[in-house]
Amino acid sequence: MGTWRCINHCGACCQLDPDDRPELADYLTPEELELYLSMVGEGGWCINFDHATRECKIYANRPRFCRVEPDVFHDLYGIEADELNDFAIECCRQQIEGVHGDLSLEMLRFNREVGF
Ligand code: SF4
Ligand code: SF4
Repeated sequence: MGTWRCINHCGACCQLDPDDRPELADYLTPEELELYLSMVGEGGWCINFDHATRECKIYANRPRFCRVEPDVFHDLYGIEADELNDFAIECCRQQIEGVHGDLSLEMLRFNREVGF
């Protein structure tokens, strides 16, 4: 496996439908869970997601739980810094499969980018 990176025109992780993430309350604080649920919009998409550009409209100020950063992943999932890369790749692949499909162009592009 290569190095994790976010590909453009994906946005799979901005599909927030709580029904697809039954363990939210296990890793978010009550305040974060409240914020998360307040962001769930039509069809389960984040209200801050721009569907035309597939970008985050509040990127610089996005919540902590949206950030792929070592301290965030440690706090949320107990992932050590040296495990972050492979874990993040797996997270993206799961999310892309659920939202765009296993054979989608997004999945093909992501796999190619991260050398999966
Ligand atoms: S699922 Fe991964 S590649 Fe797709 S937008 Fe989210 S972080 Fe980027
Ligand atoms: S705040 Fe931005 S990065 Fe986080 S889920 Fe919403 S659109 Fe995606």
